[in-house]
Amino acid sequence: MHSWFRRVEPCILYVLMEVREETDYVVHHAQKVIAIFAAMRAFADLLRGLGHDVIYLTIGDAHNAQSIPANLERLVALHGATRLEWQEPDEWRLDQVLSNWAARQAIASSRLGSEHFYTERNELAENFGHRRHAFLEVYYRRARIKEHVLVDAHGKPAGGRWNYDAENRRAWRGVPPAPGVRRGRHDHRALWGEIEAAGVTTFGQPQAASFPWPATRAEALCDLEAFIGQRLAHFGDFQDAMAEGAPELFHSLLSFALNVKLISPREVVERALEAWRDGRASLASVEGFVRQILGWREYIRGVYWMRMPGYARSNYLDAHEPLPPWYWTGETGMNCLAQAIGQSLSGAYAHHIQRLMLTGNFALLLGVEPDAIERWYLGIYIDAFEWVEMPNTLGMSQFADGGQLATKPYAASAAYIDRMSDYCRGCRYDRRKRLGPDACPFNALYWAFFERNRPRLAHLPRLAMVYRSLDRMSSEERSGLIAQAEAIRRSAATL
Ligand SMILES: Cc1cc2nc3c(=O)[nH]c(=O)nc-3n(C[C@H](O)[C@H](O)[C@H](O)COP(=O)(O)OP(=O)(O)OC[C@H]3O[C@@H](n4cnc5c(N)ncnc54)[C@H](O)[C@@H]3O)c2cc1C
Ligand code: SF4
Repeated sequence: MHSWFRRVEPCILYVLMEVREETDYVVHHAQKVIAIFAAMRAFADLLRGLGHDVIYLTIGDAHNAQSIPANLERLVALHGATRLEWQEPDEWRLDQVLSNWAARQAIASSRLGSEHFYTERNELAENFGHRRHAFLEVYYRRARIKEHVLVDAHGKPAGGRWNYDAENRRAWRGVPPAPGVRRGRHDHRALWGEIEAAGVTTFGQPQAASFPWPATRAEALCDLEAFIGQRLAHFGDFQDAMAEGAPELFHSLLSFALNVKLISPREVVERALEAWRDGRASLASVEGFVRQILGWREYIRGVYWMRMPGYARSNYLDAHEPLPPWYWTGETGMNCLAQAIGQSLSGAYAHHIQRLMLTGNFALLLGVEPDAIERWYLGIYIDAFEWVEMPNTLGMSQFADGGQLATKPYAASAAYIDRMSDYCRGCRYDRRKRLGPDACPFNALYWAFFERNRPRLAHLPRLAMVYRSLDRMSSEERSGLIAQAEAIRRSAATL
């Protein structure tokens, strides 16, 4: 809990608000709006229980002007406030709104740190800002040493290695494990009714009667314990695996609780380290998990604050195709995408490899406008907030930043998807074919993507093999693939 709330002072009034400005900047998944409002309401109750004075504006409140500055303006006047403090928002957009508004006010105001992350938001920029590329690996090793995580007294990595990625790439061929979050945890039908009555536009299934996402810290801690006890031991081995009927496999499902600050990254990492020390999870698994939180999560945030606002306009590959309409319905004959999108619409969740190597990979190969796919990710996932979603989408998934975040595009053909999943078995396309009406669309798109982007990508050392393979093809073979890919791009809406 933020240090703000440790002392109860009668002259302090805490304000929380649900506003259309926040529900409408992108079309959100219904579960995301419900989950955030439910967590906010529970938090307001908690603060009241601790003795704090709280004003909470619901989405349907008659006094709600549906904008943070407009509501603040009214409340400052109404309560004769003499000072305003706010916690730094994680998103650039909201940071601007609040800072610009506060600068115009007569009363004193200040922005405070959120006390949630390991690093300050400008730390990456201060340490790596002079370089074009800031590499995760350098950042992550420094963070491990600084935080004394999986290092010995001399700063050497536990087990003698910094990275166990090579061991963490197994496919899953077993029975789907038990679901990670508790289904039927809440009945949010009343809240959903309020959201609908306020006219908020959403998509995806609300699942309001049997809602799984945590609303309180106690519930989030329960999810953390369930992950540590039941899935962490397998996390490393199967973190890149995908399986039909197993939306989360051995992933933690903690991103929502982390991003809305129900739990802190430090306590999550600490619990994983304890499991390793007690012999309940291997070093490879725990290192793989710690890397996501102390490594990627903090690093991504640093990239966001280092590169905004220009980052939002990135389009290094000059991609302009529209997003196929079935991204909004899941109705496609490509089984891998139907599964990943279908589960996202029903559950607001897909794990990292589904996001990166299925929905992201396909949009990349097709040449979808980065802004269009970025808006889709920002809306659909329960954990989607721009500071973490945007660099993952534009940088890692779409290579739209020209390689500031990834050393090569995450592009893959059916061979990869078939190796890491069981989706191809139930697909109407043939994963082995590159040409013809039943050939897997990923295959021709893959080669055409590299051919189309030769001037922008061929110089990258990690793509040398790909371009050697392309160059070894006969010109007929190459033009056949390009023609097939063009036909796929023309008919993308109906694949
Ligand atoms: C295109 C794309 C968009 C994404 N959008 C988001 C987003 O909006 N919000 C979000 O939190 N994550 C996003 N991610 C990162 C990652 O996919 C999710 O954090 C993860 O799938 C959440 O599920 P989990 O909690 O089960 O994660 P696990 O696999 O169990 O990982 C544990 C935790 O590590 C953190 N983490 C893992 N990978 C990343 C990463 N690449 N960047 C930042 N944190 C990471 C998350 O907090 C996660 O909860 C995106 C990835 C891609 C490729
Ligand atoms: S054959 Fe192609 S489209 Fe079908 S599931 Fe496999 S990779 Fe996906």
